[in-house]
Amino acid sequence: MKRIGIMILLACLIMTGCAFFPNQEKPPAQTAPCTVEMLDVGQGLCILVQMDGEYLLYDGGGRETSSYVVRHLRDLGIRELNYMIASHYDEDHISGLVGVLSAFEVGHVLAPDYEADTKIFRSFHEKVLECGLEPDSPDPGSSFPLGSGEILILGPEQYDDPVENNRSIAVMLSYGAFRCLITGDAEQQEEANLVVSGRDLSADLYVAGHHGSASASTPAFIRSVSPRYVFFSCGEGNAYGHPSAKTLQTVQDAGAEIFRTDRQGGVTAYSDGTQTWFSVDPCQDWSPGNPLPAASSAAGGYVLNKRSMRFHRPDCDSVRQMSPSNREDSKATREELIAQGYRPCGACNP
Ligand SMILES: [Zn+2]
Ligand SMILES: [Zn+2]
Repeated sequence: MKRIGIMILLACLIMTGCAFFPNQEKPPAQTAPCTVEMLDVGQGLCILVQMDGEYLLYDGGGRETSSYVVRHLRDLGIRELNYMIASHYDEDHISGLVGVLSAFEVGHVLAPDYEADTKIFRSFHEKVLECGLEPDSPDPGSSFPLGSGEILILGPEQYDDPVENNRSIAVMLSYGAFRCLITGDAEQQEEANLVVSGRDLSADLYVAGHHGSASASTPAFIRSVSPRYVFFSCGEGNAYGHPSAKTLQTVQDAGAEIFRTDRQGGVTAYSDGTQTWFSVDPCQDWSPGNPLPAASSAAGGYVLNKRSMRFHRPDCDSVRQMSPSNREDSKATREELIAQGYRPCGACNP
């Protein structure tokens, strides 16, 4: 009976002009049982994962692309997301999730266990509760099924790192032998913790942490991941210079191929659990994002975070995200600040 059913299905497909394996053994994209799509959300992150028709949305990009994300998911015929993960509460990761929560059924929300003193955090949190959902802050080692695949939580160890980026929920997605690592905006501290954890970090596809910033994807971490392919989600001409020359070099030294939204727009990886292929060819442009505008560094001085006791260059990512109550501008020298107990930010190397 089953065999007859399959034969009828095949006959129908051939009659309508499509077949499972057109030229080679690679199945066409639309039949891939596992897809990892990096949406082009400019300077932000939004990754849609599909396994056997079940969906996970990891981050939703920033405000400007929020309606695009909703429209794109609708165009794919999605009605329900089995899982939503908010890596951490920066605007470029969670703004889009608010719109998605309003438009789609969501099964489970995984989000880090801390509160941010920002408007966007409050609207995200309120929207989750409004949808009758209870956000879950998973511990490393816990796992969730997605189709016949798995979402394994790798980090963070604790949600208390002074740098919010290092509280990003890091996941290993697996489908058959295919493995994909996503670390949100994790920087070197969380990466070091992941390496020390002793968990298997090896992955076919690695979504570069913190948009390819120099503060992430350290050589030691990349050695543990040993990726064949690397995704970079960053805005064309972004002010931070993502992806950084340093990270591109590390990835190139590892022998990986790259895909980047600032040059190629959205990119999808397809897998049948054995082979992996992509919607576009790997990017041949290994040039870093535009350098930081001279004007912002010319402003001089440093910005202090009185809570984390770090000091930053005024154009650092962290400054934009800093709560005004923790911020203080200083004209003191680097040495003076260190003497006062401040540490230089690892990201902007002031
Ligand atoms: Zn961040
Ligand atoms: Zn970010």
